[in-house]
Amino acid sequence: MRLKNMMIALAGLATLGGCSSGDEAGDAGVVNLYSARHYDSDQALYDRFTEETGIAINVMEGRPDELVARMTSEGENSPADLFIAADAGALWRAQQAGLFQPVASDTLDQRIPANLREPGGNWYGFMRRARVVAYDPARVQPEEIDDYAKLATPRFRGRICVRSSDSVYNLSLVGALIEAWGEERAEQWVRGVVANMARQPEGGDRDQIRAVGAGVCEVALTNSYYYIRMASGDDAADRAVTDKVALGFPSLDGQGAHVNISGGGVARNAPNRDNALRLLEFFASADSQRHISANNNEYPASPDVPAPAPVDAYADFTAHPMSVAAFAARQPQAQSLMSAAGWR
Ligand code: FE
Repeated sequence: MRLKNMMIALAGLATLGGCSSGDEAGDAGVVNLYSARHYDSDQALYDRFTEETGIAINVMEGRPDELVARMTSEGENSPADLFIAADAGALWRAQQAGLFQPVASDTLDQRIPANLREPGGNWYGFMRRARVVAYDPARVQPEEIDDYAKLATPRFRGRICVRSSDSVYNLSLVGALIEAWGEERAEQWVRGVVANMARQPEGGDRDQIRAVGAGVCEVALTNSYYYIRMASGDDAADRAVTDKVALGFPSLDGQGAHVNISGGGVARNAPNRDNALRLLEFFASADSQRHISANNNEYPASPDVPAPAPVDAYADFTAHPMSVAAFAARQPQAQSLMSAAGWR
């Protein structure tokens, strides 16, 4: 320990002396990032942050529930500074476990619309994703899928593909329906969708899109970026699928499509709290939002950051203004409705 401190002190001295040593963390220190995001392009962003600030990022990756369990068991000694995840539901679970500390930041308040952050400052969304539909335009008219409610009608009996109910994306969508409609109507919708399934849930969102392409179903629920990635990526087979499958944006009560976030919050026991906040503000910067959008095909959270290519071609839709914190908190209710309705 003493030796390590001495090395850090020496590195600091070297910096003061004008020498540049990139090998050791300097005065700027480190930030320990627990990430439930699993996108390769995030690493380029981390490198850019370190270049700009001198702060080294140690990344611990895992599934959201694994990281929440890890932080919980680490307790007060947790090295975690910042926890990021790709769904408001995952962030809400971490908040429920008492793993965040509220932070106040004019920068974040300015860049992130109020409905995309937790009202108490526990977590902030820096990217958006819409949970919408991929459909077969040869068999489905756009006006048949322009409202989530229509997916539960007999029109689509045996014609819908969707992943399982343990997907946090589905829990958040159903949570939004509960928030908008109340439990009873949301339960009817869930039962309608279960009755409309073309097959038992299997695979991820991309598999549902491929199933539409293969004629297994006419409509699939999917996050927007999966479709955009398939349509604009290097995989010729995926592009052949999206050539004949369209992306549609249903509306909830005429107010727009269900929108979720990627976001993060400062850990309750963060040893490097200031660096954590700085990294969170970095993620929320216009440059970072553009980078993530271009590479992972999510939408920027800031209204003044236009989506870059290829996302711009799919950015012309109305987003429902519902607070992400409101639907995130409905997950337990959503889970019990879906289980009761036999949504596997
Ligand atoms: Fe995803």
